Amino acid sequence: MEELNRLTAHELIEKTRNKEALSEEISASLYKRINEIDSKVKAYVRLGNTKEPAYPRTREPRGVPVTIKDNICTEGYNTECCSKILKGFIPPYDATVIKNIREAGHSYLGQKANMDEFAFGSSTENSFFGPTHNPWNLDCVPGGSSGGCAAAVASDEAIWALGSDTGGSIRQPASFCGIVGLKPTYGRVSRYGLIAFASSLDQIGPLTKDVRDSAFLMNIISGYDPDDSTSVNTPVPDYTKALVSDVKGLKIGIPKEYFVEGLGLEVKAAVEEAIDKLKKLGASFKEISLTHTEYAVPVYYIIATAEASSNLARFDGVQYGFRAKVDNLMDMYKKTRGQGFGQEAKRRIILGTFALSHGYYDAYYLRALKVRTLIKQDFDAVFKDFDCVITPTSPTPAFRIGEKMTDPLRMYLSDIYTISANLAGIPAISVPCGFTKKGLPVGLQIMAKHFDEEKLFRVAYSYEQNTEWHKMKTKL
Ligand code: GLN
Repeated sequence: MEELNRLTAHELIEKTRNKEALSEEISASLYKRINEIDSKVKAYVRLGNTKEPAYPRTREPRGVPVTIKDNICTEGYNTECCSKILKGFIPPYDATVIKNIREAGHSYLGQKANMDEFAFGSSTENSFFGPTHNPWNLDCVPGGSSGGCAAAVASDEAIWALGSDTGGSIRQPASFCGIVGLKPTYGRVSRYGLIAFASSLDQIGPLTKDVRDSAFLMNIISGYDPDDSTSVNTPVPDYTKALVSDVKGLKIGIPKEYFVEGLGLEVKAAVEEAIDKLKKLGASFKEISLTHTEYAVPVYYIIATAEASSNLARFDGVQYGFRAKVDNLMDMYKKTRGQGFGQEAKRRIILGTFALSHGYYDAYYLRALKVRTLIKQDFDAVFKDFDCVITPTSPTPAFRIGEKMTDPLRMYLSDIYTISANLAGIPAISVPCGFTKKGLPVGLQIMAKHFDEEKLFRVAYSYEQNTEWHKMKTKL
């Protein structure tokens, strides 16, 4: 049997349409691959759970199954955010994106992809289930927090996947694993059924093997949803129409603040080469300034932790998942939260609660909101004159497992290039643009104005069609 798991979703959709492949066969090839290598990669969680079958299952095998991050609710299937506190939680409803997938004639894997607990992290090491390994080098992290999705797609344990991005959690793991990751405009995709981390920043988006699959998945999941008051009621274009290999006449900005100390030399070289390529294809480039870039990380870690501390208040042992065994109510709350949350979750609850507390609210939280507006205005000004902005996705390639775990600040800094898009609410995509000498992938980030995903697709597709990076496969 042909290794269907190695194909892209659009290739498989074509094959199923022509009756050259059945959905069941696609699932079977995925299960086979997962069985062969997931003990090394650990992209999926709860594979060996006795209550669940030993294999991932597709719900009513149909179409091309999507791999789902463990923070997107799937009716009847465990959704635990890779946290002990949600152990055993089985949602009674499907997230809107899951409904969309089913209505489009596709299915999803019942077993979910690994992630940092509650999406807190950049390496997938903060998972209750232990880390995922980067398929390009098993000693390295896959990035995070959607590291399970990225590793699964990169190693052909998944065809395509849905992750979430609050500060880079789709784009950074996509860049570390050599695949395509898109964070849509805030409000483009419904968050209903996405377990909230920071509600004003979270967006669900696709992790895929190529740009066409990203457009396909965006066609399925985009659109207004009355169940999400922050989803926006503007028409959804057919994103596949934006897949034209032509960047002639496009004006692209290169923010000088992104090419400074801290940017790895090999990453810089790969991104500069990509810029040259796009120049040859007819795009014009100019240096620009996003003046408030240096504040993005501190602003993000105040806003994101503030919102997270509030969102996590509901996990108290009463309503969901894990409950500590004690005999009085106060101890039950305390012990449940004490034992149920991991270290990073606790750190964020404490930071966020502090930033929101009386006397500090104005100094930290309110101030951060004001600077967030300045960051957004920087982008608004640039997009008056430019079609998009290009930067590296991450300052470094994948780092080694354990390397940053003892130093949270260093870990936080790895999101320096991705966070601004979330603060501004704009769409951004990461596409593979090269490899380091040691064989680790490098990602190129393209950003555009609100609701201009089409521009991202056009530039990303043009670049992809003229390079070979997306065709590279791991040796696993
Ligand atoms: N790495 C960032 C954080 O730790 C972003 C995570 C995300 O996008 N979910 O918050």
